[in-house]
Amino acid sequence: MDQKPRFVISASEAESMAQSIGTTLPNLLPSLVKPSQSLARPPISNFSVSAVGLGVSGRIFIGVNLEFPGLPLHHTVHAEQFLLTNLSLNAEPLLLSFAVSAAPCGHCRQFLQELPSAPDIKILITSHDTPLFTPLSHFLPHHFGPHDLLPKGAPLLLEPRHNNLSLLPHTHHQNFEFLHKGVNGYATNPDPKLKVESFEDATSIGINGYARNSNAELKLEALEAANKSHAPYSGSPSGVALLDCEGNIYKGSYLESAAYNPSLGPVQAALVAFVAGGGGGYDQIVEAVLVEKDGAVVKQEQTARLLLNSISPKCHFTAFLCSSGPD
Ligand SMILES: [Zn+2]
Repeated sequence: MDQKPRFVISASEAESMAQSIGTTLPNLLPSLVKPSQSLARPPISNFSVSAVGLGVSGRIFIGVNLEFPGLPLHHTVHAEQFLLTNLSLNAEPLLLSFAVSAAPCGHCRQFLQELPSAPDIKILITSHDTPLFTPLSHFLPHHFGPHDLLPKGAPLLLEPRHNNLSLLPHTHHQNFEFLHKGVNGYATNPDPKLKVESFEDATSIGINGYARNSNAELKLEALEAANKSHAPYSGSPSGVALLDCEGNIYKGSYLESAAYNPSLGPVQAALVAFVAGGGGGYDQIVEAVLVEKDGAVVKQEQTARLLLNSISPKCHFTAFLCSSGPD
């Protein structure tokens, strides 16, 4: 038996699950809501929400809510946001329908507008007396959305996108001083022949206990996440890569909403990958890298630092800058 919770069910397994209880794929979704509510992490509200969605590939995706004590509530990840991020992480191009344990809040109804299939997505609320699949256009009529701001044909959330970003060769990062101060237990390298002039030197020398150029690898993963970031409103894409103490890497892309406030930050998106990938306590996250655009009008660095420092105080965080242009 698989010990780790699963947040994606393959098309073939979903099909056989539906057949075994004599139902269709959409009607299988409500039966998966309650069991997956236990995967939520809401230590503030203790209100567990689960959203179980069906993609056009036939796969089933699970989303749950995440809350972070010690931080303002707007850092929260709603189950529907988790669900869409989960689809995005798994390159699922279209969400057809989902069942959810409580009525989607206004914030989520708005966030769902980023999807190309938005008006037609069917939603079933399992806590209703007579649950029925009802289109999103019923939940949010007269909506404001991407088409109010973007040119016709602009890629929407889940549609293929590459932001054509490349790392700047000598990017500033604020953690360089740790090399000299020995912060986090990493002492200044005692061997003068191994002259440490940059973080890249430090990681290649192996001054950092995670060694094997984990920082360089994370940087590339974060760049890839930034290249997939849906940030058409501010033009400020970004991505985050996390490393846990077992050497697993999780990455997430910043996802914007046309209404701005429901946007999902890149650390939150990476935490969705962490939770969906079977990650344990957040304190197991030991290293994090953010890649964002030089001169961006929306900057993530300080918020990312704040969030990571709150959930995993020993996590070593570095920010790198990138620019639009060829690799
Ligand atoms: Zn919500």
